[in-house]
Amino acid sequence: MDEFSLIQRFFSASDVNEHKNGVILGIGDDAAILKAAKDEELLITTDTLISAVHFPQDTDPAAIGHKSLAVNLSDIAAMGGQARWFTLALSLPESNEAWLKSFSEGLLALAKLFKVRLVGGDTTRGPLSITITVLGSVPEGTAIRRSGARPGDVIFTTGYAGMAALGLAAVKGFLSLSDADQSTFQNKLDYPQPRLLEGQFLRGYATSMIDISDGLAADLGHILDASGCGALIDSERLTNWQPATPAFSNKMILEAALYGGDDYELLFTVPADKSLLLENNWQQQFPALNRIGEITQGAGLIMRETRGKLMKKPTTGYNHFCD
Ligand code: ADP
Ligand code: MG
Repeated sequence: MDEFSLIQRFFSASDVNEHKNGVILGIGDDAAILKAAKDEELLITTDTLISAVHFPQDTDPAAIGHKSLAVNLSDIAAMGGQARWFTLALSLPESNEAWLKSFSEGLLALAKLFKVRLVGGDTTRGPLSITITVLGSVPEGTAIRRSGARPGDVIFTTGYAGMAALGLAAVKGFLSLSDADQSTFQNKLDYPQPRLLEGQFLRGYATSMIDISDGLAADLGHILDASGCGALIDSERLTNWQPATPAFSNKMILEAALYGGDDYELLFTVPADKSLLLENNWQQQFPALNRIGEITQGAGLIMRETRGKLMKKPTTGYNHFCD
């Protein structure tokens, strides 16, 4: 199959093209033509996933398709934006039809769910690598940056961090999980759900926001650096979810949450006087809000343990999940 029929067959005629979404001209010309509204600002973000680096070589191609788009949508979510359009630069070792079918189905199902349109890309032969660029939009001046956190702000996450890292540890054979955890954690790892609606909802509440891709400690660190603040985190708020595998200690869960990564949950700060309103208005269909601590003056991240003991986060902690 040549490059053109491959694009036509797997990437052009998708349901995703149902949504007009400001596309004046999509796939097929030298460039796409897109129409942005006058009172909006555009967001643009790119991420590359490389085989054997970002996912094991034998990963289900549908999961690769899903995740390649999901990690990019998650960056738009973390700005409080709506995802509109994306391009796909695909490098493939061979034109394997079964692989391409499954990959494009995983990719386009997620695109359809969030009404984001594939408007172009590039297809080349080479080691398997996927680069996606997503364009999104926000009403003028409303994007949520990393730099807006202030002392006294409450720190929240959507849902819980750590499951994807435990799933990866199990895939690599470092951990043995109960059947229930195996499927939940593997699903978190392979099919992360970008929190786009949650991110948009947070415009008007959040002073700063980031998505958790590299572990809560590193990603909160980016907010603290950009905002010039410190943070106090309650360690029990990071471990108050219940895995079904009995052998888990709180320490393992805490390490997975702090240093694991791949969660794609949102981490954000809200002024204390708005935090109750946020908790009251938070939508039922969103993952539970987890109030994990507060922003402080000074620098760095301090963990507060259940017994009230304070512990400065080691900057280079041992990571069980690194290879
Ligand atoms: P050019 O030579 O101008 O770069 P290409 O032959 O690379 O054009 O691409 C032809 C059309 O197909 C363009 O509209 C391009 O955006 C689109 N395209 C190429 N590869 C992909 C892909 N993997 N997914 C979606 N669109 C693609
Ligand atoms: Mg090209």
